[in-house]
Amino acid sequence: MKTILVTGGTGFLGSNLCRRLVNDGHKVICMDNNYTGRLENISGLLGNTHFRFINHDVCEPLSFDEHLDQIYNLACPASPPAYQGKHSIDTTKTCVLGALNMLELAKTHRATILQSSTSEIYGEPLVHPQTENYRGNVNPIGIRACYDEGKRCAESLFFDYYRHEGVDIKVIRIFNTYGPNMDPHDGRVVSNFICQALRGEDITIYGDGHQTRSFCYVDDLIEAMVRMMNSPKDFQGPVNTGNPGEFTIRELAEKVVAQTGSHSKIVYKDLPADDPTQRRPDISLAKNKLGWEPSVSLDEGLQKTIDYFKREIAHPALAAE
Ligand code: UDP
Repeated sequence: MKTILVTGGTGFLGSNLCRRLVNDGHKVICMDNNYTGRLENISGLLGNTHFRFINHDVCEPLSFDEHLDQIYNLACPASPPAYQGKHSIDTTKTCVLGALNMLELAKTHRATILQSSTSEIYGEPLVHPQTENYRGNVNPIGIRACYDEGKRCAESLFFDYYRHEGVDIKVIRIFNTYGPNMDPHDGRVVSNFICQALRGEDITIYGDGHQTRSFCYVDDLIEAMVRMMNSPKDFQGPVNTGNPGEFTIRELAEKVVAQTGSHSKIVYKDLPADDPTQRRPDISLAKNKLGWEPSVSLDEGLQKTIDYFKREIAHPALAAE
């Protein structure tokens, strides 16, 4: 049994990860300030003696008396509407100060630390599909920069702590992920489309809908995370974790309409600034080093997510697993 800290533990990915780690027999400390995380995501874990929640902002340093074996650093708003606008400065702080504080903690405890980086570090990619050695094309002064550059800076901190402080680091670059415990109000495309379809509201495509994304079901992503954390010491990454199946946003809208049997109509809205045109991971490195590739198809994953949102819309407090 390991003692594992998960920052961002009440969020979409964090809560799914906490459940997986508790089920695997570990002692899990879930940390979050619940800015975008939701306590209901961990309601099923709160009574478990191997699980505890602490309300703490990752921007503030903290210490633990008990020994930590592993730290998963997931804390950060991840949806464009959540990290832009008035929260942009806090987003950069969360990425940078959060990484610094958690790296110091890892150094003190000699813990392995995994950074949840992002496909956003590739910006508007000029290489397709994206490989890990592609250095990206980010607008450093655009509205997504708080997140993109914050996550890039965090990666550089991780590698400096590895080179100069001997910290055992792991870096994964997460591509679009969806599934149960997503917040219906987070503004991301999968949650928006499914909730709009279930409520019979217009489905809002931004731009012409020809932009592409690759959608990974959450269970597949969590499996990659756990494999990366427990990979050999001489492998730091970064490694792309995502589903290489690539779909246009228009195709996604059509799938959601078909799978929900909705009568919603598709409408077109302005495309936000710096919205990437295309995104697809090359996952050769993950296959090779982690023996990992996604196993859940978009149709199958969407169905499970639709079922979750049906419960969430009917009984918000009970939907989280
Ligand atoms: N999008 C959309 N309608 C929505 C929400 C998002 O067409 O209601 C588009 C968005 O402009 C982007 C894609 O869907 O091109 C994915 O957006 P999301 O916010 O989920 O993630 P991103 O990959 O941009 O971080």
